[in-house]
Amino acid sequence: MASYRFATRPAEGDAIAFEKGVLQVPNNPVIPYVEGDGTGPDIWRASVRVFDAAVKLVYGSEKRISWMKVYAGEEAHAKHGEWLPDETLEAFKEFRVSIKGPLSTPVGGGIRSLNVTLRQVLDLYACIRPVRYFEGVGNPMKEPEKLNVVIFRENTEDVYAGIEWKAGSKEAEEIADFLRTKFKKDIRAHSALGIKPMSEFGSKRLVKMAAEYAIANGRRSLTLVHKGNIMKFTEGAFRDWGYDVVATDFQGQFCTEADLSKGGNGSRADCLVVKDRIADAMFQQLLLRPDEYDVIATPNLNGDYISDAAAAQVGGLGLAPGGNVGDGVAVFEATHGTAPKYANLDKINPGSVILSGVMMFEYMGWKEVGQRIVRGLENAIKGKRVTYDLARQMPGATEVSTSAFGDAIIKGMGA
Ligand code: NAP
Repeated sequence: MASYRFATRPAEGDAIAFEKGVLQVPNNPVIPYVEGDGTGPDIWRASVRVFDAAVKLVYGSEKRISWMKVYAGEEAHAKHGEWLPDETLEAFKEFRVSIKGPLSTPVGGGIRSLNVTLRQVLDLYACIRPVRYFEGVGNPMKEPEKLNVVIFRENTEDVYAGIEWKAGSKEAEEIADFLRTKFKKDIRAHSALGIKPMSEFGSKRLVKMAAEYAIANGRRSLTLVHKGNIMKFTEGAFRDWGYDVVATDFQGQFCTEADLSKGGNGSRADCLVVKDRIADAMFQQLLLRPDEYDVIATPNLNGDYISDAAAAQVGGLGLAPGGNVGDGVAVFEATHGTAPKYANLDKINPGSVILSGVMMFEYMGWKEVGQRIVRGLENAIKGKRVTYDLARQMPGATEVSTSAFGDAIIKGMGA
């Protein structure tokens, strides 16, 4: 058991365990949380009330969460002189399931990005972002309800691995010279250089997680999104490794578009289809034929772009949840940042963190809790008492504070 200098382990509660590939969740799990910077504390105050109310509604006194506050970001730096204390990472490992608010990236020193560090140190190799429409939310589409996808973005490799050199640096010049002389590559003078590592191991484990999710949740298709027509050995390999892992690890559970086009006994109209799309075409597909897509698996950079674009189609960042998931360790977090101009105004939309909590409860197997919260959110939106960001897109809506929106969700859970 780790010892904590800054955080306090709750007097009651047990750690979630991971045995033979399965989470073992006690009735009173300890869950570490980071409030986050900027609007993080406002959002957390509303969110935790929603989480506790939903657990109580579903389980009465049988189950409850012991929340454990851990430190990262500005609060950690101000109180303890460290942006990301080691013990916070230890808590995420020890208790296995955690939730965090947004963290600002320190400017002019410190570490490169707390979020990227967390993902790499804990090997949270999948960034999972479900994107769906909530009835009544303003959006730019004619039929927003047709989009309902779950995006699995590879979280540790690709150009996000942080292997890059500034133009004119000694390293960039040396590597460029090596490539020019050894491999006859034409690289312009004074070029910045970046490396895009994508491994068979990293690609396959991501696609495997997406395939398992598709099967477990009765989804209709799994689409591998890549730019393999141009980047053949990285993005193209991602596609090939994706098809390989589906064929070897999920024999008989998927069919391909090629199988379907053959017709006859080999094809089944109801099969779980694995297909692939080139990334640029995929943006068009999600706009024009969104209902043809379901679970999506994609490398890091594509996933970053696609998940924000998809969120915009259903109303934007205020309701965009996420989870960073590895093998038996997960940190759930909203897609948006700290929105510092709204800090301490009790104004911002807590919906993304609340929906990240829904993902967390689903991951823990407390599915009914997640369903209750979603019902509460749907009813709050139907009642048109929403935070400013939703109110400005919903004719006739009344703008309410962060805390009042939390209250409306709690009220809506029982309705
Ligand atoms: P941001 O914090 O996401 O805010 C950009 C705008 O998005 C806000 O001004 C607001 O738009 C809207 N928005 C964000 N969250 C919202 C919410 N909960 N409800 C309603 N509207 C919301 O992006 P940023 O200003 O580029 O980044 C600020 C800081 O956050 C930076 O330090 C960045 O590094 C950090 N960041 C952290 C994470 C993370 O921790 N995972 C992710 C992204 C960024 P309006 O002004 O139109 O109302």
